[in-house]
Amino acid sequence: MSEVARNKSALTPFRPTPTPFLPEPETLRITEVFRSLQGETRRVGLPTVFVRLTGCPLRCRYCDTTYAFHGGRRMSLEEILMAVGQYATRYVTVTGGEPLAQPACLALLTRLCDAGYRVSLETGGALDISGVDARVMKVMDLKTPGSGEAHRNLYGNLRYLNERDEVKFVICDRNDYEWARARLRALALPCEVLFSPSHGQLDPALLADWVLADGLAVRFQIQLHKVLWGDVPGR
Ligand code: SF4
Repeated sequence: MSEVARNKSALTPFRPTPTPFLPEPETLRITEVFRSLQGETRRVGLPTVFVRLTGCPLRCRYCDTTYAFHGGRRMSLEEILMAVGQYATRYVTVTGGEPLAQPACLALLTRLCDAGYRVSLETGGALDISGVDARVMKVMDLKTPGSGEAHRNLYGNLRYLNERDEVKFVICDRNDYEWARARLRALALPCEVLFSPSHGQLDPALLADWVLADGLAVRFQIQLHKVLWGDVPGR
């Protein structure tokens, strides 16, 4: 090699061989994955696997899953699908906390649908649902005054609901009932509507009587899992 070529070689910058970009695997913070009977909605009583995501930006006064506000374990989508796959199930419910508070929830919902599950999503109604996979059955709360979070209702979400979805009112007292009844009449909701008494706060029979007296076209429901097992996590 000539002196000129040697000098030129010495000045040539080092260029590493390009490697394919490997994105970080999508992860979610998960409180629990468990099988139970579906306690609510039109799928009540069906064996279902629940994926409970950690965290919620709301603080409803009657919240029965405060243990899901913090903690949990970070899992990749593959790990979550493996955990669900341990159970022989057709039905999967993604819940929380508020599952949509974690952006990767949308990818999880799509992956579960792609895997052949019949998927439902329980959401508090304060976060945007427009990105939810169309195959998912959305069960969306409209928070009543008794929850303390009615000001968080994102009414723009209603345009993304269809006849496969459900809207749920958790009713704490007569004032909540009248508020929900007025919303029912004003909003022309495009899907089935659930009226559910706040557990331990409103006598279910009283709410049933009010619904019948007014002839409301709603589904009255009580939480089956609490009737069977009480208010315990993971059931
Ligand atoms: S939205 Fe659900 S998880 Fe969040 S505070 Fe209200 S009841 Fe609890």
